[in-house]
Amino acid sequence: QQTKDAETRQLPAKTTDGTEILIGANINQPDHVAEALSEGAESVGLMRTEFLYLERSDEPSEDEQFETYLAMANNLDGRDLIVRALDIGGDKQAPQLALPQEENPFLGVRGSRLLLRRADLLQPQLRALYRALKEGAKLSIMFPMVTSVNELLKLRALCEDVRVAMDAPSCPIGVMIEVPAAALEAQALAKHADFFSIGTNDLTQYCLAMDRQNPTLAAEADSLHPAVLKLIKLTVDGAKDQNCWVGACGGIAGDPLGAAILSGLGVSELSMSPLDIPAVKARLRQTQ
Ligand code: PEP
Ligand code: MG
Repeated sequence: QQTKDAETRQLPAKTTDGTEILIGANINQPDHVAEALSEGAESVGLMRTEFLYLERSDEPSEDEQFETYLAMANNLDGRDLIVRALDIGGDKQAPQLALPQEENPFLGVRGSRLLLRRADLLQPQLRALYRALKEGAKLSIMFPMVTSVNELLKLRALCEDVRVAMDAPSCPIGVMIEVPAAALEAQALAKHADFFSIGTNDLTQYCLAMDRQNPTLAAEADSLHPAVLKLIKLTVDGAKDQNCWVGACGGIAGDPLGAAILSGLGVSELSMSPLDIPAVKARLRQTQ
């Protein structure tokens, strides 16, 4: 039975009408790749690089970042890896950065807004990523909390500057869709993005105006709320015919019902906690 389960986990998430959904793992550390693969992961769809800042009082150096990204890619052995640029702010704090206090941190300088203001954070991360690419790593770069085309164009230009200066290969550059404005502007963003990954945790929080961490609201902060689903549909429709695939990496992607609904809306990649993978794959294989 054990062997059969292990084999079943490796089957693709192909729906009964023949659509294959790519199943990724949300993991941050190279050491976690083996476990994710054994659960049936086919890629890493979200590597949250904030983990490099956790439980320490200093900042990770460019070298340390480079080694981590390269090790992650090497352990994945040619499978896709999406590295999310540093997403600090809101629920993700990095005390060593001593950022200014904000009255509304969830509406403040977080994610890409911070990266665009802090070259000292973005530049070493981009250099580490392009060094890994030069060493043959297969990876994509994804930017969090993007709200406008203007931000995306600036981020892309910064990537290109680093790439050219280092004479490194290019890689796909994607955007998290986790602010309602980004979903509403998906068509414009898709012209300049290689892929989208819908961050349903933040998208739900900002769409419903419900703090994602407030336990009293947890039951109502539903990522399958019709308003959230409309934003997801707008995202998929906006990306259509624009050479921009759409994935999702928020919590609902790891819920069997949520995964079935997202795939029905046209999301073609789902990334989740490794332990959620077997049930999601099993459910998708029974879904039309
Ligand atoms: C999200 O917002 O859905 C997401 C995947 O990112 P995080 O949970 O890290 O904010
Ligand atoms: Mg988020």
